[in-house]
Amino acid sequence: MISVENSYDKRILINSKNEKAICLKEKVEKIIKEVEEDGTFDYNQLYNLRREPYSKNLSVFAYREMILIEISKLKATTITKSLAKDLDDIEKHIFLILIGRFDKMKEYVIKKRKSDLIFTGEKGERKPKNFTVYKEIFEKLYKDKLSGHSFKVSFFDLFEEINVCPYCNRNFINPIYKSSKINLDNLNQSPDIEHFFPKSMYPFLSLSISNLLPSCAFCNKIKSNFNTMNRCISPYEITQDFKFKFEIDPKNINKYNISLETQSNNSKILNLENLYKDTHSKYINEIYIDVVSHPNVFTNSLENMLNQMESKTPDPVNFKIEEWYKSFFRNYYEEDDFNKHPLSKLTKDFYNHLKDKK
Ligand SMILES: [Zn+2]
Repeated sequence: MISVENSYDKRILINSKNEKAICLKEKVEKIIKEVEEDGTFDYNQLYNLRREPYSKNLSVFAYREMILIEISKLKATTITKSLAKDLDDIEKHIFLILIGRFDKMKEYVIKKRKSDLIFTGEKGERKPKNFTVYKEIFEKLYKDKLSGHSFKVSFFDLFEEINVCPYCNRNFINPIYKSSKINLDNLNQSPDIEHFFPKSMYPFLSLSISNLLPSCAFCNKIKSNFNTMNRCISPYEITQDFKFKFEIDPKNINKYNISLETQSNNSKILNLENLYKDTHSKYINEIYIDVVSHPNVFTNSLENMLNQMESKTPDPVNFKIEEWYKSFFRNYYEEDDFNKHPLSKLTKDFYNHLKDKK
C-alpha cells in the first residue's frame, strides 16, 4: 500500500467553475486548515458559510443538507430511542463526518462502534433495530449523489497526480473521458471508488470524502465487505505499512523469490504477497539482469555503482539520484512519487535489498 495525502484541499468537491463558487471553496479550505492547525478540529466553524450563495455547489454543504433532511424524516417515524439519539449525534458531527481529517474521522467511528449506526455482522453481534431502514437511506443518497458522472469527474480531479491504485501499487487507475462515441461504446470509464469503512456496515460514512479513495477494480472487489476496523489501515494514515523481502531461489540462482513483511491485515485481504510472488518475480529478475549487465556496472561493479548513486559528492551540480535510479531501475526513487508508477514500492525495496547486500 502506498500513502495518499489527506490534505484539507482534497476533501471538498465542487461541481462548478463559477468564480464565486471557487472563492467559497477557498474560504472553506481556509477554515479547515485553521481548525486543524490550531488543533481544535472544530469543523462546525463552517456552519456560518452554509447559506452563502453557491454553497450548493460544494459537496460539504450539499451533502450535509441532504443528510439532515433524510435524518429528520427518519426521526419522524417510529424508530428506537437509541437510533434517534445516534442520529442526533451525526447531526452534531456532520462536518467532521463529511470532511474531517481521516484520523479524526476514524476516532469518531471508534467512539461509535457500539452504537446503532454500525453493524458489521460479526459473530455475536446483534443487528440494531431499524438498522436496515437507516442503511437504505444512505445507500440511496450515495447512489443518487456519488455514482453519477459529474461527481466522479470532480472526485478523480482531486487525485489527478495518482496514476496507480494506492492499495496494490500494480494497476493504473487513470479515468478515460472520450470526446465522442463510435457506436454503443461508453463515453467514459473510471476506476472504482472504494469506501475504506464499507458503506454496508458504516452507512453514515457513505458520503464521507475521507472514507473514499480511487482504487482498481481488483482491490475494491477483493476487499469487498471486510470490516476494516480489524487491523487494517487506510492509505490516508499509513507511514510504513509493508516491506518486500527478496531471496535467491535455492533451485535457481538467477531467480529471486518475493515475500512481504507487514503488521496490518491489508495485504492478507488483498492477497498481495501471492500476487507479487506469482506475477512480479519475473519483473524483479529482469531488473536485476538489466542492472548487473549495465555497462557502468560491468566496468565498475554493482557495489561501486550503488555507492556512487548514494553519494552526492562526485558531481553536486549535475548529479541527481532520481535520474540515476530511473535509468537503472526504471521507476521513481522518492516515496512521494510512488503513486505515479506501478511496482515502485517493490522496486525501491529491491534497490534497498541490493544496497544492504553489498
Ligand atoms: Zn489495486
